[in-house]
Amino acid sequence: MSLTPDRPSVPGSTGGTGVPLLRATGLRKAFGELEVLKGVDLQVRRGKVLVLIGPSGSGKTTVLRSLNALTPPDSGVIELDGDRVDFGADVAPRARAAERARLRDASGMVFQHYNLFPHKTVLENVIEGPVVVQRRPRDAAIADAEALLARVGLESKRDVYPFQLSGGQQQRVGIVRALALKPKLLLFDEPTSALDPEIVGDVLSIMSELAHEDWTMVVVTHELSFAREVADEVAFLDGGVVVERGAPADLFTAPREPRTREFLNRLL
Ligand code: ADP
Repeated sequence: MSLTPDRPSVPGSTGGTGVPLLRATGLRKAFGELEVLKGVDLQVRRGKVLVLIGPSGSGKTTVLRSLNALTPPDSGVIELDGDRVDFGADVAPRARAAERARLRDASGMVFQHYNLFPHKTVLENVIEGPVVVQRRPRDAAIADAEALLARVGLESKRDVYPFQLSGGQQQRVGIVRALALKPKLLLFDEPTSALDPEIVGDVLSIMSELAHEDWTMVVVTHELSFAREVADEVAFLDGGVVVERGAPADLFTAPREPRTREFLNRLL
C-alpha cells in the first residue's frame, strides 16, 4: 500500500507552482508576559516540505501547535486548503471550537515523545483517531492500519503495548497513527530528538519516503542533513519571528542574515 493520501484534484493547487496548501499570516502568541510568536508568516505548497530550524525557545513547537490549533494563536490567520481561520476575529466560543476542530482534523502530528496511549495496543493507538474522531467503519480502519504498519515493518507488533517497543518503533507507530487520519498536512515536532542515534536514520528515511510520495509536511528538526536533502524550503526562526527563509541550498551555503549564520556555525 502506498502511503500517499487520496488527493482531491484542485485545479491550480497541485505541483510546485500552485496556491499554497497552507498559509499562516501574522501568528502571534503570548504565554502570560512572554511573547513567544511575534508575527510569524509561512506557507507551504501542496506536496512540499517546509523545515523549521532555530534555537531552543525560538517558538518552533508553538508554531506547529498553532497550525493544528492545539495551541491556538492569540491572533493571525491560518488558511488550509481553502479553509480560513482568523484567530484575531471576535467569534463565538462554539464557532471557534468548530474552527479549531477543522484545523486539528486536517493535520496529523508526530510528536517528539511519540505520545502513544500507554494502555492501548499499537493497533488500538492507530485506529483511535479514524474510528472515534472521524467515525470511519472499524473494519476499514483496521485494514488501513494493518497495511500502514506493514509498510513500516511493524505488522508483527499490532497487538503489543507501547512499552514493549523501542523508541524507534514507537515513533514509527506515531507516524502511522498520523497517516491513518489521511490528513492534508503532516506536522513533525522534532521527531528524532528523543531517539538513540543509531535509529534516527530509520525514522528520517520513512519521512523522506513520505516527502517523495508528495505529502505536504512541516518539520521541526535539528537534523540539518535531512533538511538539506528533503526540504523544499527552510525557515530559520529566532525570537518568535521568521528571520530568513529559502531553498536549503541557498540558506545553508549563503545565509543572508547574521543571526542565521551564527546559528548554523554553531551547529556545523
Ligand atoms: P522551540 O520549539 O523553538 O524550542 P517553543 O515553542 O517550545 O520553542 O517555546 C518557546 C517559548 O515559549 C519557550 O520560552 C517556552 O518556555 C515557552 N512556552 C512554550 N509553551 C508554553 C506554555 N504552554 N506555557 C508557558 N510557556 C510556554
